[in-house]
Parts: sequence; structure tokens; C-alpha cells
Amino acid sequence: MTNSLLAPSTLPFDLPDYAHLTDADYREAIEQGMAEHLAELAAIASDDSPATVATVLEAWERSGALLTRAMNAFWVAKSADTNDERDAIEEEMSPRLAQHSDAILMDARLYGRLTALAARRDAGEVALDEQEEHLLSERLKDFERGGIALPEEQQARLRELNTELATLSTRFDQMLVAGRNAAAVHVTDEAELDGLDDGQRAAAHEAAQAAGRDGWLLTITNTTGQPVLGSLTHRPTRERVFRASAQRGLVSADGADAETDTREVLLTMARLRHERALLLGYPHHAAYAAEVGCAGSTEAVNEILGRLGPAAYGLVRARGEQLQAHLEQTEPGATLEPWDWAYVDGRLRREEAALDPGALRPYLEFDRVLTEGVFAAATALYGITFHPREDLVGYTDVARVHEVREEDGSHLGVVVIDPYTRPTKQGGAWMTSIVDQSHLLDDRPVVTNTCNFPPPAPGAPSLLSWDNVITLFHEFGHDLHGLLSDVRFPSRSGTSVPRDFVEFPSQVNEIWAYEPTLLARYAVHHETGEPMPAAWVEQLLGTSGKETYRYAELLAAMLLDQAWHQTPAAELPIDPADVEAFELAALERAGVRYAPVPPRYRSAYFHHIFGGGYSAAYYSYLWSEIMDADTVAWFGEQGGMNRQSGEHFRRTLLGPGGSVDAMESYRRFRGGDPDLAHLLRRIGAE
Ligand SMILES: [Zn+2]
Repeated sequence: MTNSLLAPSTLPFDLPDYAHLTDADYREAIEQGMAEHLAELAAIASDDSPATVATVLEAWERSGALLTRAMNAFWVAKSADTNDERDAIEEEMSPRLAQHSDAILMDARLYGRLTALAARRDAGEVALDEQEEHLLSERLKDFERGGIALPEEQQARLRELNTELATLSTRFDQMLVAGRNAAAVHVTDEAELDGLDDGQRAAAHEAAQAAGRDGWLLTITNTTGQPVLGSLTHRPTRERVFRASAQRGLVSADGADAETDTREVLLTMARLRHERALLLGYPHHAAYAAEVGCAGSTEAVNEILGRLGPAAYGLVRARGEQLQAHLEQTEPGATLEPWDWAYVDGRLRREEAALDPGALRPYLEFDRVLTEGVFAAATALYGITFHPREDLVGYTDVARVHEVREEDGSHLGVVVIDPYTRPTKQGGAWMTSIVDQSHLLDDRPVVTNTCNFPPPAPGAPSLLSWDNVITLFHEFGHDLHGLLSDVRFPSRSGTSVPRDFVEFPSQVNEIWAYEPTLLARYAVHHETGEPMPAAWVEQLLGTSGKETYRYAELLAAMLLDQAWHQTPAAELPIDPADVEAFELAALERAGVRYAPVPPRYRSAYFHHIFGGGYSAAYYSYLWSEIMDADTVAWFGEQGGMNRQSGEHFRRTLLGPGGSVDAMESYRRFRGGDPDLAHLLRRIGAE
């Protein structure tokens, strides 16, 4: 068999031939891809003709096609359906890819081609349009931040740091997946599952069987809080589940979890990142990260987090007092613990005749939410339609391929939907790109939507929680950013925007979950076909789902991320045993330490900052939400969900993607800068 990744795909829409790809094919294509990429760039570097858009920018964008194709195909399969071989490839390749990137960013001849083009532009010999100008300035910035100006000796150290950090990040994530699987709570006495509905029990039973165990297995999801905590009436089971979640990454007293103890890894990463920042002339890693964001500086980040963190904790503590009193009605003398929050909160809501999150599930069947909710919103706003393509294969049997067409029926792109959790999948939810849209290369986008919803028991429907629904809309917002991309250069396509901007379109897409005309279509009882009771819909609209608890736990995690990356290396803990103390002190200092509401992720399982790409940038979710809240206000002024508003948002904001300055495209969309007041009102901090 030949390796189909080595040549452009012959399948419809440039889909990788997943059905026939072997793991060895990925390795071979990545290796060959790196070599080809360097050869192509060497040709650009040694070109001594006058620098032009075609010989520098366009040639650069055409380079590395094999590497991009191989990495995109591999990354999708690895993150959503890994195995030992894929883990091994990632472990082997991530330091080599870091070296590959360093080889490019420390190549003075290549940098010279960019500066030559900039000089010719300054001299009036070459005219650059807006997209070319932006691409050039981004490439120059990459080199400056990649150490091009450093003396050779320091460049050598920088290379070592980048390689080691890439290795550690991969290790952290692999330990995390292992730790999450190992943390699943095994239950053999059904009475301990009281409060779980039939679907949840069936899923737990399936999980136990899949793991070759009797009884039930309560699997652990990425976040500190766990979905089943809202339902379990048996307090000791709640405590077991919470502790299993919150102690991930920490070694147990008997040392049994040593293989999943991430503390040494994360401490080393924090120290090395600090050293790298100093080498590049920044006071700390957080400053290095903030510079390329819309926020621009750590001061701006600290100002907002410092204002909203304590405000959110003030609100959540007040709710905590109500919950404490309510808990004592049934458990005299008990102290409200983190494992009680969701359960007691749900109970009190029912008493307040407020919405019971558990009662919503029968009305939220996955397929219906997807087609009558998520897809229907995109059709109403952007005119695009979705067509299942059962003839095409995703990267697993479960992943389903949908073709996306424009209003006039022409082909726009492809979205692959992969909703359910499985042990081989990373936790959380994400969008990835298999093919980036580009007019230069005449490529149409292919994107994925990957979630971790509970898989349906055989023959049963998949019922979602309200949180799951919001996640689906959210990730689809990223998909739309990729699908509706309308740019010339592939490297600036769709979601290639600053970290603290990229969550904005996805957060905006969440609001369509609350659109009354859509709710009437997708929130329908899976057995009786009845629409969700009007009173519940009213309440959903009233809360808009953005809860005090959620803001508090998010802000605590954001402040924790900043603490790890603003603290000088000399003040970071040395002993892994001190990680928890560092964490608690940081929360205390920030005014967000409150035992019943711990951070959304604790350090030892904070994938975003030690495994993913959000180090010192987890604040981005909040920053993006400033623009989100301001945009939601705009849609409100335009009369909500309609084709005209959607078209304006698409053309001014989603389409340009990362091809122009992000804040500039925001102003084109909105006619001005975002107003913080909308977010403050949403959080209740004003
Ligand atoms: Zn997102």
C-alpha cells in the first residue's frame, strides 16, 4: 500500500483517506513533510532576485503543504482517537517539530527576505495590499519573538528550551489522559447511585463493562466539577467523585498514582518558560504571551481579572450561604463542601420553582439539537445548509461527515461531527481544521467538531444537559469561523486570530441556543414530541445560562494561570509537594479562595496551560467575552437572529479571519471598540 498522505488527497473535498491510513503513514508523512518544508524555504532564502509578494509571501504560503496535510490529519486522529502508537508518534515528533520551527525562526537569510520586502515597500518599490501587509508584519513578529536578534549562544539555549518544553507539554497531556481514566469511580452497590436517571446508569454500566469490571464506573471529565454531582443524592458517592476529580495529577499517599503525578512536569515547565521569557527580553512568560493578544499587556489583563475575580466570588459566596442553610435542613451540622454545590443548588432551585437542570435532558436529544438547533441557526444567519454524506468516512465510525453548501447550492466546505466520549479521546471539546480555506491555494475548508457527550446506551437516544447544548453551539461557532473564512493566505485563515480573540465568535454562537424560535424546534421531548414547557423556556431565557458559579470557577482558573506565569522562577516551588500550597496562596492573594468553589481546573490537570496552547492566556476566554457581550447587544439592536445581521457579521468579521488586524476587523463590524459595560452587566458585577 502506498501512503496516501504523501500526495494531495484524491477523495472528495480533500478528505484524508482515513479508512486506509496506518499510523506508520503519519510518521512517514510528517518526517518527509519537515524535510520538504525546509527545502522549499531554503529556495526562498537563497533567491537573490528582488523581494516581491510572489517570491516571498506567496512562495512561503505555498511551502510546507505536505507537513500541514500530514499534521492536520494526524492531529485530528491523535486527539480524538489515540492509541499507543499515536502517543509515541506525538512524543517523538513534538520536540522535533519545535526544532523544525526554531530552524526556520533562527534562519537569518529567511528573515532577510522579509526585511528586504519591508524595505522595498518603505522605498515605494512594492505596494502591499492590506492582507499582504498584515501577513508580512505577522511573519516579522514571529521571527522577533523567535529569537532572531539573539547572539548565537543564546539562540542555542532557546532551542534547548523550546525542545524541552514541547516534550514536557506532550508528557503532561498523556499523563492527564491516563490520570483521568484511572480516576473513574467504581461503584458496586446500586444504592450508591441514587439520583442518577436510567440513561446515566446505563452509561456507567457500559463504561464498567468496557473496562472489564462489574457494577458501574463513573467516568471523570476534564473540569474540577463533574456532571453527575448535580444528580447523586448519596453524599459519600459525591465526595468520592469530587475527590477523584480534584486529586488528579497528585500522587496518593501510597504512591500508586506516581505515573500520573504531573507536578514535577508542570513545575519544570513554569521555570523553563520563565527563563525563555527573560532570554527574549520579557519580565515573565505572561508578558510574552499578552504581547500578541488584543489585551496587549499583563497590566491590562491583571486590571480586568483583578476587578472581576473578587466581584464574582462576592456573588458566589452569597449564594453559598443560601446553600449552606439549605443543606443543613437535611444534614444538620454539615458544612457545604465542593461536592455538595451542584446538588444542593439544584435542590434549592426546584424549591424556588426554578429550573431543574436534570429535567431538561429528555428535551435535548443530540441529533435534534444538532439539526434543528445548531445547523438551523447557521442557515438562518448565513444562508448555509448542511447535507449528511454517509458515503464519506470520518476518522472513526462515529464521526459523521456533513457537506456545507452556500445559499445558491454551491459547495462551501465540510464539517465532521464527533460528539461522544470514549477512552481514546482527550477530554473537553474542540474544533480543528483538516483543510484551511485559502484563495491562493484554491482550498475549501474542512473542519471538525469534537465533543465528549455521554454516548447513548444501545438503542437509546443521546440526551444532553443544557451545558452540553451550549458546548455544541460554542464549538460550532469555531467551525463557522473556519467554514466562512474568505482569505487569500492559508496561514491567516479562519481561526488564525489572537488567542484572546478566537473565543469570541464561538461565544457569540452560544446565544442562538436561547433563540425562542429555535428552542421551539430543537427542545422537544424525545418520546412524546412535546415542546419544552413554556415556563422552563422563560427561565432559560432569563438566566441565559451564564451562572455565578461558572464565572467564579473560570476566573479562579484564569488567576491561577497568571500566577504560574508571572511569578519569578526563584519564587516558584521547587518541591512538587508544594504545588498545592502555591495554588492556594495564589487564590488567596487574588481574593478568590473559597473552598466550595474551586478553580475550574486545578494546576495538576490544567490541560489548557500545561498541555494545550493557552499558557498565560487562559484569560482569553474572558477577553473574548468582552467582545461577545458587546456583539450580543448589537444583534439585539438588529432584532436578533436574521439573515441580514448574519451576513454583516459574516462579511466584516468571520470572513476576514486572521487576514487583517483583529481589532480593526472588530471595528469594521461594530463601528467602534467593544464596551465593557455589557460584560459587567452579564456577570452581575455592575
Ligand atoms: Zn472555544
